[in-house]
Formats: sequence, structure tokens, C-alpha cells
Amino acid sequence: MHEMSICQALMDQVERIAGEQGASRVDKIVLSIGPLAGVEPELLSRAYEVACLQTIAENAELEIETGPIVVECRKCGASGEAGVSRLVCPSCGDWQVNLTQGDELLLLRLEVSGISDFPKVES
Ligand SMILES: [Zn+2]
Repeated sequence: MHEMSICQALMDQVERIAGEQGASRVDKIVLSIGPLAGVEPELLSRAYEVACLQTIAENAELEIETGPIVVECRKCGASGEAGVSRLVCPSCGDWQVNLTQGDELLLLRLEVSGISDFPKVES
């Protein structure tokens, strides 16, 4: 399953970041998935429920944000939102556009806890 391998890569990333911050627990993971990323948010959440088991993010909540598709026109320079099946300039209608947003799969935010600010001093 496509979503499962994405999830596993995500968990690796989450564990690494949490480790770098010295966190003992991850409370929340916020993802941004563009409409053109080729990922079904629903399938990803289901894969996540399995992928998060026995990781630092086992009880973390997964929040998925889906953003708009934004294109920039190579003809007139206008940029704006476009439709999934209609990637054309919103201003002049030309199809020669660059995708500036919409195919991303990003780890936006990580909420962690259990960070110890001061190293414990054993007495
Ligand atoms: Zn244009």
C-alpha cells in the first residue's frame, strides 16, 4: 500500500525530530497534503493508525490539512488557484503554468511533550 510506505517514512521523520528535541512523547502531527500529491488523506490516516504503533507517536493525533492548487502563468505572470482537472491560468486561461502549490506532502508541525529543559542531576 502506497500510503503505508509514506506513513513509515513519516514516522521515521517524526521520530528523528522528536529525538533531536529530546521529547519523550509526540502529541500531535500536522500534515499538509496537496490535492495533486496522489495521496488519499483518508487512506493515510488509516495507515497511520498502524504505522504509529510502538513509536514515540503512538498516541499522537494526526491532523491533515489540504491546501489549494496554486499555479503561476508563464505567459502573463498571474498566479492563483486552479482546479484539479483544470490546470490553467486563472487570468488568461493559458495552460503554460507552473505549479507553485498543490502537490506537496509536508510535515507542517509537530507537537511534542516531555522535553526536559535541564539535564537531570543525579545526587
Ligand atoms: Zn496567464
